[in-house]
Amino acid sequence: MIRVVIGSRNKKKLKEMVDLLGDLSLDLTDLTPYPNAPEVEETADTFVGNAALKATQLAPVLGAWIIGEDSGLCVPALDGAPGVYSARYAGTHGDDQANNDKLLREMAALTGAERAAYYVSTAVLADPTGKVVASVEGRCHGTIVTERRGTGGFGYDPLFLVSEHGKTFGELPLEVKQQMSHRAKAFAELRPVLERLARGESLA
Ligand code: IMP
Repeated sequence: MIRVVIGSRNKKKLKEMVDLLGDLSLDLTDLTPYPNAPEVEETADTFVGNAALKATQLAPVLGAWIIGEDSGLCVPALDGAPGVYSARYAGTHGDDQANNDKLLREMAALTGAERAAYYVSTAVLADPTGKVVASVEGRCHGTIVTERRGTGGFGYDPLFLVSEHGKTFGELPLEVKQQMSHRAKAFAELRPVLERLARGESLA
């Protein structure tokens, strides 16, 4: 089986990604078997740029197919913030509590349609030489509520209201998020490419 490495160290994101692709006939793994894998700096100013950095830098070092994923939350009324800075919006990388507090502060004066937001997930697949063979994106639209609701998910999920369900991703079961999230949509687009890879077909 062909090994495909998901080049992320974010455990919550990894769980979602492995769950979305785990049924494919691929040797799918995270970076655990590669303790010396380099830390890739997210220096691009777009999601796809950062996803490509992760995939193309890790692939030749690990000698494996890599999926690089970059994601975040965009609020049009805040000119797209937190955007590519979603994980470090309040300063410290991965401090969900502080990031959510900052988002609530920044949006305190916003009402109605101004509270619209969307999640973006981009995934880039690189071959073992580091060449990009696929690049996909998924989006999920919602609204930012005025206080946290629920404890599920991660990141901004307790603030992200999904109108179809009238609940936040913090309140909804993971199965529901996995059917409609930005990541689910991006990976549904990547799936046929990975199926071809699993069948041994050329992706050139
Ligand atoms: P990354 O690991 O650099 O892609 O950072 C992604 C950041 O965007 C996370 O730390 C969260 O703050 C936010 N984010 C991305 N996807 C989600 C999601 O599905 N739910 C909640 N927050 C998310």
